[in-house]
Amino acid sequence: KDAREHGMAFSYFNPAYHDDLRRQMDIEQGLKEAIDSRAIDVHLQPKFDLATGRTHSYEALVRWTHPQQGAISPGLFIPIAERSALGQRLDRYVLTRVAELIAESLRQGKQEPVIAVNITARHFSDTALPEFIRDLLHTHQIPARSLQLEITEGIVMEMRRTTTAILDELRQMDIEVSIDDFGTGYSSLSYLQHLMVDELKIDKVFIDDLESERGATLVRAVIAIAKAHDLRVTAEGIETSDQARILTTMKCDLGQGYFFARPAPSDDVLGLNGARSQRRFRS
Ligand code: C2E
Ligand code: MG
Ligand code: MG
Ligand code: MG
Repeated sequence: KDAREHGMAFSYFNPAYHDDLRRQMDIEQGLKEAIDSRAIDVHLQPKFDLATGRTHSYEALVRWTHPQQGAISPGLFIPIAERSALGQRLDRYVLTRVAELIAESLRQGKQEPVIAVNITARHFSDTALPEFIRDLLHTHQIPARSLQLEITEGIVMEMRRTTTAILDELRQMDIEVSIDDFGTGYSSLSYLQHLMVDELKIDKVFIDDLESERGATLVRAVIAIAKAHDLRVTAEGIETSDQARILTTMKCDLGQGYFFARPAPSDDVLGLNGARSQRRFRS
């Protein structure tokens, strides 16, 4: 038998591999059920205007507690969801929950929140996405400016025709789009001028390196390029007051990170009374 066949046979009988596969299938199945029963929670983390210190908007981040496995990090289950149609289902679930939150805030007389939702890569090549969002705005009677989308740099770099068409359509609907994890895609910055997006989020790895000479130079350059293209620029993963101060000096527009606020349950963050979630858990 050739070595490749041996390798495959080995990995098939490898108990660790089997456990991984098993765990992955558990997660997929559990996620499906959790979406259907609305057992997945949406937390919000604010983005602050660095010049004024005011809250500019929020980012929605999913939180899932698996009945057997406990809390599972999005960093683990999002990639699993992305490999199947579950990514689209999860995105639509979060979009719906966020639309409900915005509508509920308005009903309770709060200031209209602006909430950004992360969209999986595969879903962003689904031409039905703008239509789904249009329906959502209509159903919940919320303005387009209250909902934003975050997509990763990789999605935009591919620049598939469908991606461009979707960006176009969202622009016409006045839905703002950010490029998340900016700087991790090793892309040329020249493509920025062709992009129809509104915001760049500088990835945490660059913020971590901000106190070094090289790191600072890099971040300063990204901010300058963003401004040259009329893009709002956000720094993510700010953990120290020094980082916040440096970024403010560099005229970075927005800042997000544990130094300011951790992601927290949406009702608490928006100051909503919990009637809606209590009703949900009683049924
Ligand atoms: P992301 O969109 O880049 O979100 C930022 C991540 O960094 C979040 O992790 C957030 O909790 C974390 N974070 C924020 N501030 C700090 C900080 O100061 N220090 C550190 N160490 N971390 C910080 P989280 O919630 O675990 O999410 C991880 C990734 O999973 C997200 O990265 C996003 O790509 C994905 N994700 C999360 N929620 C959703 C969702 O609702 N839909 C989709 N499609 N993806 C999501
Ligand atoms: Mg994000
Ligand atoms: Mg990010
Ligand atoms: Mg990130």
